[in-house]
Amino acid sequence: MSYYVKPMAKLIEELSKLPGIGPKTAQRLAFYILETPYNKVENLAKAIINAKRTIRYCSLCGNITQDDPCSICSSNQRDQSVICVVEDPKDVIAMEKIREYKGLYHVLHGAISPMDGITPDSIRIRELLQRLKNGKVKEVILATNPNVEGEATAIYIAKIIKPLGIRTTRIAHGIPVGGDLEYADEVTLSRALEGRREI
Ligand SMILES: [Zn+2]
Repeated sequence: MSYYVKPMAKLIEELSKLPGIGPKTAQRLAFYILETPYNKVENLAKAIINAKRTIRYCSLCGNITQDDPCSICSSNQRDQSVICVVEDPKDVIAMEKIREYKGLYHVLHGAISPMDGITPDSIRIRELLQRLKNGKVKEVILATNPNVEGEATAIYIAKIIKPLGIRTTRIAHGIPVGGDLEYADEVTLSRALEGRREI
């Protein structure tokens, strides 16, 4: 890093902290930023700060939103009797893109992973159970990722929900094992939703 002037070294250091950005890419981006007109760089910086300042998590579903509750939770066009449980706000976007699902969501913000110290208490399972208390929800679709952590999380939640008499289903077909919901194409995800089965 000593090859660079201080502000450049700092810029590369901060960029390399971003996911998927190694030192080489960070260096490339830093040079790109230096070569970009001031107003464009300012727009980028403003967009980052503005997103961070104005976006929060919906107190009901945990999805990202500007207004609380979010537009999905507060919409009267959505089926209030179905909740689709996902790990990440990015998964909500993936589900919305297929335009078939009209129910609500619940974002867990993670999956149970004892190896990483993520217990059921560290993700938003308690909040999900709270939402089920109003008696409106007739089905919970478990759309956690089809990997070890996602499966463990789905099984754990299904076990708690079953005694409440709520139909509990798991998306099944098409999503490659070990895959990520957000990377599934729309047709695959649509079939996975159609092919959900009781868990
Ligand atoms: Zn919401």
